[in-house]
Amino acid sequence: MPTRLPFGSLLVPVRQTSARLNAAKLAGYACAIVFLPVTPTAGDWAALPFGGLLRDLYQAKPRKPGDSVQLKVGPRAQTTLIAVCLADAGSTFQRLQAAGKLARTALDGEPDGIVISSQGCAKSALDATLNATIAALEAAAFRFATFKSTPGQHERLTHMEIVGTGKLPDLDLTLATAAGNNLARWLTALPPNTLDASGYRRLVQDLARHLGLGFKFYGEAQLKRLGAGAFLAVSQGNGTRDAGIIQLVYRRGVPTPGVAAGRAKARNSTSPLVSLVGKGICFDTGGTNLKTHKGMLDMHIDMEGSAVALGSLYALHALRSPLAVDCWLAITENRTGPLAYKPQDVVRAHNGTTIQVIHTDAEGRMVLADALSLAASTRPRAIIDYATLTGACVSALTERYSGAFTNRPEARDFIEAAGTSSGERVWCFPMDADFDSDLESSVADVLQCAVDGKGDHILAARFLNRFVPQDIAWLHLDLAAGSRHGGLAHISSEITGFGVRYTLDLLRRGWPAKAAGSAKATSS
Ligand SMILES: [Zn+2]
Repeated sequence: MPTRLPFGSLLVPVRQTSARLNAAKLAGYACAIVFLPVTPTAGDWAALPFGGLLRDLYQAKPRKPGDSVQLKVGPRAQTTLIAVCLADAGSTFQRLQAAGKLARTALDGEPDGIVISSQGCAKSALDATLNATIAALEAAAFRFATFKSTPGQHERLTHMEIVGTGKLPDLDLTLATAAGNNLARWLTALPPNTLDASGYRRLVQDLARHLGLGFKFYGEAQLKRLGAGAFLAVSQGNGTRDAGIIQLVYRRGVPTPGVAAGRAKARNSTSPLVSLVGKGICFDTGGTNLKTHKGMLDMHIDMEGSAVALGSLYALHALRSPLAVDCWLAITENRTGPLAYKPQDVVRAHNGTTIQVIHTDAEGRMVLADALSLAASTRPRAIIDYATLTGACVSALTERYSGAFTNRPEARDFIEAAGTSSGERVWCFPMDADFDSDLESSVADVLQCAVDGKGDHILAARFLNRFVPQDIAWLHLDLAAGSRHGGLAHISSEITGFGVRYTLDLLRRGWPAKAAGSAKATSS
């Protein structure tokens, strides 16, 4: 079933105007959100349309940050007016969580337009809350692909307006990030017979054309020539020969008709600053070590890492980022069958490392090994990889945080700080070199994983570490928070698209250069 990328509907347009919120403005909207301080003054109530009615409702009981009241106003009671008590403290995560709840309330009546304003609020807390609210509304209003013969009759939110709040800083960043997150979630939610390897490749090719990115596809034949035996071990069990690794190239204002990769050894002017690498397992049966019914049910989302890499690149492009960024997507299924790889197979990866296979369901680290090695061969300064990689990471963190692993241990605070400020929280795990003794093989250079599952998230990171040269700053994100029942923070869908907000924050903070600088400053 062919499906097209939802370029036209990734975002609901938002405009900022200097208009005031009055009865006439309210009458033009089905929904209005007004942020207020905990204790508005008499002047605040007087300045608001329907201020008297609102005041009586608001003051009916003591209010705390995050509380809201709503009433129907206008000649035909056509506008739902929601007054929200502004939280002036708290973490980004808490602000996003509150914004998610507010967005669900606001969209409950399926308004076609929402106007957002404030009265009497401190500017800094208000700006952060407005950005969180826009992010939450963009996420909640976004529609996933539907395959129903008769689509439901739902009204769509078509426009938002921010009035009377002064210019909102970072609105561009909020919108670009929301679009990237929506794209990542949309891709991840597609059925696996739509987003199979060929379907995914076509969509990424469309995206590259739409955004003017360099595109190169390394199919199985070329990967064989390049010696990418770890990726090919996984893809050999597929029924079709369409798996491969995609490279996308983004350079602001620089046309990229051809892409030279896999050969360049020295960093040069065409080398990326950052390469984003994603695990794109379109369906994971577990392979020869087959998963159970429930363990396999949601395994179409095992490509979320690649979708997050794409969503991050989309957001950077939307912001016209000056950073030179490449994106590498390892796209295949992990299937059973007579040709599928097996425990005790020994394969040779792109960088020459030989791997003794232990468990075919640990396919993510196999495809990432070669994708990381190929990405490293173009000499980026930094690599960030994304993968729904291990159950151990979920056991350790639940789905509220994602795991972070780095070959720059001095930058742990920097890495976690981006999680705190973006609201997509990460926790740095240890990955000291002595963990490698758990992966010692008697017949090959390394075991794919340990026979028991102890600390599998850490051992997976140690395994991947072999495929990234030490002079490249590397951050590996094990996306434990990639899906969560009930959603996470401002995202109410089970698929969270976790990682796009985090990446934009990390790169804006100057990863990896500033991370090295801050570490030097603290150690001297
Ligand atoms: Zn697996």
